[in-house]
Amino acid sequence: MVVSQSGRVEVVVGLQWGDEGKGRVADALAPGFDVFARGQGGANSGHTVVIDGKKHELFLLPTGMLRPCKTCVLGSGVLIDPDLLLAELRNLQEGGMDRASLVVSETAHAIMPYHKLLDRARDRSRGRRRPPGSHDLGMDSACADKYARRGVRIEDLLDEDILRERLEANLDEANTLLSKVYDEEPLPFHETYSKALSWGRALAPYVCDASLSVSEALAEGKGVLFEGAQGTLLDVDLGTYPHVTNSCTAAAGACTGLGVGPSAIDRVIGVLKAYCTRAGEGPFPTEEHGERGDGLRTRGAEFDSATGAARRCGWLDLPALRYAAKVNGASSLAITKLDILAGVERIPVCVSYEIDGAEVGEFPCSSASLTRAVPRYEHLEGWRDDISRCTSFGELPKNARDYVRYVETAVGTPVSMVGVGPGREQTILLDA
Ligand code: GDP
Repeated sequence: MVVSQSGRVEVVVGLQWGDEGKGRVADALAPGFDVFARGQGGANSGHTVVIDGKKHELFLLPTGMLRPCKTCVLGSGVLIDPDLLLAELRNLQEGGMDRASLVVSETAHAIMPYHKLLDRARDRSRGRRRPPGSHDLGMDSACADKYARRGVRIEDLLDEDILRERLEANLDEANTLLSKVYDEEPLPFHETYSKALSWGRALAPYVCDASLSVSEALAEGKGVLFEGAQGTLLDVDLGTYPHVTNSCTAAAGACTGLGVGPSAIDRVIGVLKAYCTRAGEGPFPTEEHGERGDGLRTRGAEFDSATGAARRCGWLDLPALRYAAKVNGASSLAITKLDILAGVERIPVCVSYEIDGAEVGEFPCSSASLTRAVPRYEHLEGWRDDISRCTSFGELPKNARDYVRYVETAVGTPVSMVGVGPGREQTILLDA
């Protein structure tokens, strides 16, 4: 059956190393959309929306959950921790914020209790610091099971026999690893089985064919907003491997993770901070150590929402941004946290790198090269005034406007939105 798609799909995607403020950008765009979808990532992708001064933190659920009469979709590419999902739903209900309806893909994979134990045990045995955001969440092991074709999908939680069969095979192997390789306690079968069945019962009202829901919404002429998680430079294929996450974080992830074709995507909004941050390890050429980096961190509250860990801070990296805009096919840019740069006298912006004595204008895909990259900066004049109350582009100080226009020209993509504070009302929309 060919479903005609008269609706539109727009994708919000991070252009840096995550935490760009995608949640607030999606929230600002929300009034124009009926369906909010996520198709990759999982518990490692917290985003924050501030409404009337109140902070709402979501990990698995799309920000559309905070809007009345919207439909939210967790597509097949999301790794779902059922405990976390049910807790998030409960929190929203308790706060009177369960305003939207939720659809969970039957083919999304579930994070099982043994995935968390295996991730933790592996990290301990390797003395490894976690890549961004995957703190004991079971994401790596769940992802490995998915691609080894032995994962537990949400639909399996609804079928006692299939679940038993899957768990018997998987738990046997997981317990052998836990006890014989990592010297950890094995997980009892019955406890795990009954927990998984209870998840199935609780999630059953939400479970369906999410791809079909999206196609039907498009056929009805509705708008679908896809909320990306993490950032392009953390993409498992396109990012700074091995210091990446385990999914496709680029706009293309919307297609496989949701079940829509590339031609269905009408617009890609690339989100970037006015400076740059990175959580965890990996090359970060424009990282600013010392006082100036501390200043960005303090003013920008650059601490992980789940763990409180400090993020590394530095300056805008134009070769990296151009690369990210290119691989996403970004139609427009949303620049967040411009307010945080107020008071920086001359703002460094990386225009190229020096790698092994040569000037390089392109972002090197090889992490080894990027590790040796020394940034070459231009300096833009800063501004002193607090801009958090500005409501139009024209109200911004000239140097702030010049900064935005400079980025736009350097990346070659128009800026459609500027964030001057975390609140819904602190969003400046531009024609783009
Ligand atoms: P996401 O995962 O990309 O959605 O980003 P997060 O929500 O993890 O992190 C962004 C943080 O920056 C949140 O605490 C937001 O409230 C905050 N934020 C977003 N945009 C702005 C902005 O324009 N100015 C300021 N000061 N904070 C912002």
